Amino acid sequence: MQIALGDPLHGYYISRDPFGRDFVTAPEVSQIFGELIGLFFVQAWEDRGRPESFFLVELGPGRGTLMADMMRAALKVRPDFARAANIILVETSPLLRSAQKQNLSDYSPGWAVRWQEIPEGVPLYFIANEFFDALPIQQFVRKSDGWHERMVAAKNDKLKFVLAPDVQSARSPFPTDRENAVEGSVVEVNPNAQAIMSGISKRVALSNGVGLIIDYGYCEPGYGNSLQAVKMNDYADPLGEPGKADLTAHVDFSALLTSATAAGADVCGPLKQAALLDGLGICLRADRLKLTSPECASEIDASVARLTDEKLMGSLFKAMALSKPGSKQLPGFPC
Ligand code: SAH
Repeated sequence: MQIALGDPLHGYYISRDPFGRDFVTAPEVSQIFGELIGLFFVQAWEDRGRPESFFLVELGPGRGTLMADMMRAALKVRPDFARAANIILVETSPLLRSAQKQNLSDYSPGWAVRWQEIPEGVPLYFIANEFFDALPIQQFVRKSDGWHERMVAAKNDKLKFVLAPDVQSARSPFPTDRENAVEGSVVEVNPNAQAIMSGISKRVALSNGVGLIIDYGYCEPGYGNSLQAVKMNDYADPLGEPGKADLTAHVDFSALLTSATAAGADVCGPLKQAALLDGLGICLRADRLKLTSPECASEIDASVARLTDEKLMGSLFKAMALSKPGSKQLPGFPC
């Protein structure tokens, strides 16, 4: 998964711009998504005493659409917020960096490959939309003698899944509480996601910052194979054409929550994306947009439905927020 997505020459994210062609993310569905997230951060900034300078970081910014919508909305209501924000985009893909450069030319952003490059000592506010689902998972399959890691092997020029012959020894972050699992069960872990969550949560807590994570995933620890490949808006074989299809796995929010809490941050959620967007006023914003552009009313209704409908993105996508313990409640989250 790591090589297929991130290989410096042939990796999926390195060699192509997948947006619109292979999949569509929430900011690409409607400008309202980014606008509401922008207002979330403006309110959080106000509630934290309007620091004069802070880092506004996006992990995995895609084309830069989300940040552009956030900043446009923020500038409209609080120009001081936009002046105080130092935008840093954490991105590995040179191709997507150039798209971000174009879309965000008004805001002189900086770039980093890893969030750890961001200097300490200034409040860190971050957003990660559909970032954690792109980080490589490990899978383990239950057999009668214990858990075996699922590996990828090459045979006769073809890739296939095989099980490691040795039983997995219980080691962190492998869950040790699964001894009663039935044979054939699959469990997924994402050590990279947990490490990022742990480090960035600590920084948020120490700097009186804020974090918002939105992704598709599950809230309770569970079993199952959620690895999926998507190409041209359709499911594909994850081993079929490495580097040519997007690979993702559902995000285990319970594991992220545990990492964030252990690192000293307060966590709100996870809650459904529909609940967050309702709480942030998606209906009011849609009505406002329809007043100014009545000719787009049905398109606006359709995109709001796509973001909030239980059968579309409203329920599968979850939102979770981080802050310093004891700080003011975050907008949109009923803590
Ligand atoms: N947040 C955007 C894009 C989501 S797609 C949106 O909502 O539209 C995933 C993004 O994460 C892409 O920009 C991809 O290049 C980036 N990415 C994937 N793995 C990464 C990694 N390990 N480090 C930094 N960025 C990564």
